[in-house]
Amino acid sequence: MSSESVPPPAASGPQLQVIPREVHGLSRRQMSQNALRVMYRLREGGFGAYLVGGAVRDLLIGGHPKDFDVATDATPEQVKALFRNCRLIGRRFRLAHVVFGREIIEVATFRANGGDDDGDRQTDDGGRLLRDNVYGSIEEDAVRRDFTANALYYAIEDFSVRDYVGGYADVQARVLRLIGEPEARYREDPVRMLRAARLAAKLGFTIDPATAAPIPRLAPLLAEAAPARLFEETLKLFLAGHAVASFEWLERLGLLPALLPETAQALAANTSGALRRMLLQGLRDTDARVAREEPVSPAFLYALLLWPAYCRSLAQLQAQGMHAAEAQRRAADRVTLHQLERTALPRRFSLPMQEIWLLQTRFAQRQRKRVFRLLAHPRFRAAFDFLTLRQAASDSHAADVAFWREAQLHPAEAVAAAGGVATAAPLEQPEPEPEPGEAEGAGPRKRRRRRRRPGAADAGPAPA
Ligand code: ATP
Ligand code: MG
Repeated sequence: MSSESVPPPAASGPQLQVIPREVHGLSRRQMSQNALRVMYRLREGGFGAYLVGGAVRDLLIGGHPKDFDVATDATPEQVKALFRNCRLIGRRFRLAHVVFGREIIEVATFRANGGDDDGDRQTDDGGRLLRDNVYGSIEEDAVRRDFTANALYYAIEDFSVRDYVGGYADVQARVLRLIGEPEARYREDPVRMLRAARLAAKLGFTIDPATAAPIPRLAPLLAEAAPARLFEETLKLFLAGHAVASFEWLERLGLLPALLPETAQALAANTSGALRRMLLQGLRDTDARVAREEPVSPAFLYALLLWPAYCRSLAQLQAQGMHAAEAQRRAADRVTLHQLERTALPRRFSLPMQEIWLLQTRFAQRQRKRVFRLLAHPRFRAAFDFLTLRQAASDSHAADVAFWREAQLHPAEAVAAAGGVATAAPLEQPEPEPEPGEAEGAGPRKRRRRRRRPGAADAGPAPA
């Protein structure tokens, strides 16, 4: 493909600022010993070696980087020749991984005009930058990065920080600023819009107005991004300890409809705000789990993120007169399929996600056999946690939560106390209460919805 006339990322040539050690205050004690080893070895080999990207940024604000990336003017083959424990990866652009047990130090050769660091996924439609990656100078390497805060280089030769794009001042001011002309940079790689939201959330930075301004208008470009990459990005947004802040930034920047279209619609249609309340509570819980270093699962996360869409879809199908059990399965499949058009969602996550939803109606059942069967279900715990969460949307779940909490501790007694019979309608009755139905008031649920014309399905959960 011929390369369209995409302007280079920075219009004016980069101006180097060297921030000496006494000023920036970074110390090698805060850095990965393995990353330091790699940089020293490169330097002994006659090459330049720099700690770069998120690690420098995080250290400058007193954070703990999750990985330490190194940039160098050595080619991947030259890097490989220096290390026994090194393998080369990547097709489009070769990177060296130097392996130290469980820690991998990624060593990248300076490059000009690359795409993203996430690898080989970009395709060539939609006017995006698609050029072969070529090795470049450190200046070129700096300006092809996304935000100024991500383009700082800590030099092992003199322990200074090299800043070509004003990133040091931006980190001090805690502001995210795209390098170059924002709209062009988003068109090159729309995922940068999500990175803006994610990094602002993670770092507690503001977003420079010129960097934020084009996002709501350009958000639809995310439809062109690879679903697998959007899935990865979604996990980073919501499973890294700053889910609430991520969600708020996505909303503020108008990115939610691009990432979770049906959830955005369902939230907008849910005038009581109950679904949003529950979603935020779930995200708060997720952040708390991450803070306590407890495991978090993509299946539960997606069950939460797509629950508003599921409720809405379920309400629509039932409004058409579909049987409850059938409507639940259909709604689950429909929502999953539609979301797959946007973000990938491997089956090992989508199946348990659907189970969490479908198990919700079974909490109303109290017959002995059913209670024991549900307690033994592999997804019981996740489904129960989800039920607990639903209390944030509606207080009608309190009795179920209390019963199942007790049933986990003393199943026989709980069943006996409940009389060993079903206290609620079996599945066939229209008893699953999609939260959107609340717009109609929390009336009794026995009443069957009248059949509607099929065309009326899109009218939403609570049409007049
Ligand atoms: P995190 O703390 O989440 O790892 P990070 O900034 O290190 O944040 P990475 O995805 O690890 O993010 O990317 C490493 C570096 O690569 C970034 O700091 C940035 O310089 C560059 N980079 C990553 N993604 C892009 C992109 N889409 N466009 C331009 N540069 C990018
Ligand atoms: Mg990183």
